[in-house]
Amino acid sequence: MHPASFGYHAPRSLVEAFGLLREHGEDAKVLAGGHSLLPAMKLRLTQPEVLVDLRHVSGLSGIRVDGDTLVIGALTTHTEVSTAEAVRRSLPGLADTASVIGDLQVRNRGTMGGSVAHADPAADLPVTLTALDASFVLTSSEGERTVAADEFFVDFFTTALEPHEILTAIRIPLPPSPARTSYAKLPHPASGYVVVSAAAALSVDDAGACTAARVVLGGVAGTPHRATAAEAALTGQELTPEVMTAAAAQAADGIDPHADSYADEDYKRHMAVVYARRAIEAAAARA
Ligand SMILES: Cc1cc2nc3c(=O)[nH]c(=O)nc-3n(C[C@H](O)[C@H](O)[C@H](O)COP(=O)(O)OP(=O)(O)OC[C@H]3O[C@@H](n4cnc5c(N)ncnc54)[C@H](O)[C@@H]3O)c2cc1C
Repeated sequence: MHPASFGYHAPRSLVEAFGLLREHGEDAKVLAGGHSLLPAMKLRLTQPEVLVDLRHVSGLSGIRVDGDTLVIGALTTHTEVSTAEAVRRSLPGLADTASVIGDLQVRNRGTMGGSVAHADPAADLPVTLTALDASFVLTSSEGERTVAADEFFVDFFTTALEPHEILTAIRIPLPPSPARTSYAKLPHPASGYVVVSAAAALSVDDAGACTAARVVLGGVAGTPHRATAAEAALTGQELTPEVMTAAAAQAADGIDPHADSYADEDYKRHMAVVYARRAIEAAAARA
């Protein structure tokens, strides 16, 4: 399969990239790792006239701590995220998430920014980044704005990104130690993409009570789904097995999952509860 013909630009700076996006408007698409865009182009699901390759723009990859925030450059690969000491230590649930994306080849080329911008409802990172209350730095020739994950993911394959904007970085608040974050995934047996997944981020005080909880489901809606009833059932409670099971039982409240050839609605609803429980228990165990 071959894509339709397209023009290719490899700018050396963001300023140059912004100029190209302005010049070509909606006919242009940014290229990062190419592991979602190029297959879609080969299937002619998308036919951009121009690709703006970000790989030679400096300053868009790498992981650094900025005060109480972890900043991950948009071009940072899944492998870099899954193996970085700062991520493994502070946000182990994020490292776990990046480590179960596709296969080694995909993880070596695919980028966090590409996954987030693509907003596939069967992707892994949007789920965990929503649980971690991440925000996304969207940059254009007009400046910079930061959008929280809860507002960034709008619908299937749709985000708050405007065509002239580039996602330059992902900012994640660092939780107090120990970091109780986790990710649990039911992968499709053929594609490896998410059938249903769950991410949890829990804060626990010295007395053992859960002071804040974010529980997010993947694969059950067009965007990552906050399981707010489960979150409320955890908050203020000691994380006993009974409390966690009862909270997870509410994870599927209010979801209306789309069926596909592999999983129908009832199966997804059931798996949402199972994987929410696994994620909550794994996060709580990370003392
Ligand atoms: C065989 C295979 C298996 C896979 N398995 C999984 C899996 O199990 N789980 C999973 O989550 N993903 C999976 N993926 C997808 C993979 O994670 C991709 O790497 C990711 O979805 C897109 O990242 P990318 O860097 O390749 O982006 P690209 O393909 O280059 O771009 C994707 C889209 O995002 C836009 N974009 C990219 N970067 C930016 C930016 N910085 N600013 C603005 N827009 C941008 C592009 O214009 C394009 O529309 C798989 C892919 C393959 C080929």
